[in-house]
Amino acid sequence: MNMELRKTFQFEAAHQLPHLPAGHKCHRLHGHSFQAEIVVRGECDPHLGWVMDYADIKAAFQPLWEQLDHHYLNEVVGLENPTSENIACWIWTHLKPRLPQLSEVVVAETCTAKCVYRGGK
Ligand SMILES: [Zn+2]
Repeated sequence: MNMELRKTFQFEAAHQLPHLPAGHKCHRLHGHSFQAEIVVRGECDPHLGWVMDYADIKAAFQPLWEQLDHHYLNEVVGLENPTSENIACWIWTHLKPRLPQLSEVVVAETCTAKCVYRGGK
């Protein structure tokens, strides 16, 4: 059985979007309670009864979470323009080498707005 696991992480962070017009609210410095959902796909091991240990997803994401949580995202290398789209891509790029089963990264800035990235152009 090919199955999908989803694990959600929260991080608090500040950002501003420098490429937007000065009058746009997102150009101003502000913060969000971001949510990042890490999705993996794989075969369910018939003996263990799971695709993988959720703890392994957490361990793979932890070094990235430490770079995001309570940081000013614009200062993180590669996140100079920290839109949800660019954060999702940044997470994918850094996570995929240690979590090959990664199939999707979802980044939500608010309860009602989220961005999904599944790799590729
Ligand atoms: Zn924002």
